[in-house]
Formats: sequence, structure tokens, C-alpha cells
Amino acid sequence: MEGGLLRRFYFELLGIRELVWVARQIINTRPTHIWFHQIGNRFPKILVPACRILGISTLTTLHDFGTLLGRKLYPSDFRWYDKDVSDHIKRIYLEQPRIIQGCKPQDLLLRMRKQVVKIYLNTSSSLICISKLQEVILSESGINVATVIPNGIDRCKCDLIPSLSKSRFDILFAGRPNAKGLELLAQAVSEDENSHLHLAGSDRLVEIVGQYLDSNQYTFHGTLNSMEINELIHKVELVSVISQCFDVYPTITLEAIAHGCPVLTTPLTGNSDLAKAISPELVIDFSTKPNLSRIKIIVKESPTVYPSIYTVSDTWKRYEEILIQIS
Ligand SMILES: [Zn+2]
Repeated sequence: MEGGLLRRFYFELLGIRELVWVARQIINTRPTHIWFHQIGNRFPKILVPACRILGISTLTTLHDFGTLLGRKLYPSDFRWYDKDVSDHIKRIYLEQPRIIQGCKPQDLLLRMRKQVVKIYLNTSSSLICISKLQEVILSESGINVATVIPNGIDRCKCDLIPSLSKSRFDILFAGRPNAKGLELLAQAVSEDENSHLHLAGSDRLVEIVGQYLDSNQYTFHGTLNSMEINELIHKVELVSVISQCFDVYPTITLEAIAHGCPVLTTPLTGNSDLAKAISPELVIDFSTKPNLSRIKIIVKESPTVYPSIYTVSDTWKRYEEILIQIS
């Protein structure tokens, strides 16, 4: 743990090899702006203040919690959690900055790293988040977020792919099962004889749903590539993303909407407003079993084209505006 933390500390904050590489690029290209994406993951954050000292504007995009907070944040991590997520987060962070799940508050190195990361992020000319929910969480933990720019969605150009079965209500669950409400979904499907669950991902998905479903109530597709996922999205009536932890911006929601499929999600996902555009009833409580008989009616009555889509070109326009502002 200590060795791992020290190594992370070195790579995130110093990373001499990366610094030398970037210094070479700066000398060769003499940029006026540098765009850092997910600087917490690989690039040493010290580059951000270093660039500012050199007079180079830095645009930073962050699509997670930037190593400041646990990767998986659950509502239970917040002491006063109630159903109003944003109010709750504000309250807890106003009380006391709190290092949560997976971290040890007494660990001086962790505390120091958190402070340094916060300073580096706040040194950026402009820090951009991907969702309002993420902005609330980061802002309340002391990070100055300039604006929120969601990823755009363009409509697919797939040829018509026929449904699997008109008489059945097919639901897709894709990805890793941790904190995505798969158990609740499987329980709901087990009580609804007309529903059928499609699983795309690891064998672990089968282990989980096997506790609730007979083999004829689900189809396991294994790990699919993005093209195969897209085809499957066209064949189902609903994609389930009922996250039970704060999920900054689940990609599967964007994929589902791009291919014209309604999404069932929770207020803990940063892009739940996209599901809400079809019906507010598609954004459900994260701790209760979905009511499939009601959801079927909503999906049946839902428009065939998603309203007010924020396109990829809209996203780029917003980024261009920011780049002009920080010039
Ligand atoms: Zn498509």
C-alpha cells in the first residue's frame, strides 16, 4: 500500500520521464495552449502550474473525480444522504472535507496528495467537467470548475436491424456489474414473465443473475465489441444503467440514445437528464427494484426520436468558445 501510494505520488506529481517528454514537445512546438485530459491518470499534474509559469494557457478536462475522491462514491459515503443528491453533497462538504471509502484520513501522504492535486487542478486556466453532478461533487470539495460540457451524441446511421421478438420485452445490461443495480434488475425480470435480460460482459454477470433467473430468462452474449453492442441495442427495448454509486457519465447511456433506445437510470448518473428527456419515470430510485410493468408502458409510449439531443458538434463549439476565452 505504502509503496503503491509513493509510486502513484511520484507518477502523478513528478514523473520525470513524462516531464522531459513534454518539455521537448513544448520546445519544439511552442504551443500557446495545452489541453490536459484526465491528468490524474498518467500525466504528472505538476505540468499544469509549470505551463502557467511559462505563459501557456491550460485547458483541463476531467471526466472522473481526479483521484481526489474514491473511484466509486456511494450515497452511503455521505453521512447525511437523502434523495436530494446535490443538496446532500453540498451539506457534507461544507462540514468538513472528508476522504472517503478506500482512503485513510490519518494517512499524511494521502492528505498531502489530495491538497497538492487540488492546487494543481485549481491552477488550470479552465477546468471543465462533463456533468452537473460531477461539478457539484468537485466544487464542494474545493475544486474550481469553470463549466460543464457534456459529451455530444450524434444519431446513428445503422441500417435497420430487426427486433429480437415483438412479443417480448428485451432489456440490455452491458459492462461491469459492480454497483450497477444488476441484482435489482434480475429480481424484477424474474417477476415479469414477459421480460428477457441480455447480458454483455464477463462471466460474473451470469453468476449474479443465475441467483434470480432461469436460463431461459436471460441471454449471455459474453464480451462484445462496440459494433456488436450497438447492434444489440437496436434489438432491445430498453438499456439498463441503474447505477447505485455516483457514475460521472456512463458511455452506455450515450450509445443507447445514439441508437434510439430508451435508458433506465438513476439520479446518481451524471447524464440521467438524457433518460429524463423521454420520461422522468425512467430515472428511478437506485435502491428499489424497477417496476417493469410500468416501465414497459412508458417505453411503449415513448417517442421514437429522442428530443433535444446535444450533438458532438455542439460539444466542440463549447470547447472552441472556452479556448477563445482563455487565449
Ligand atoms: Zn444504430
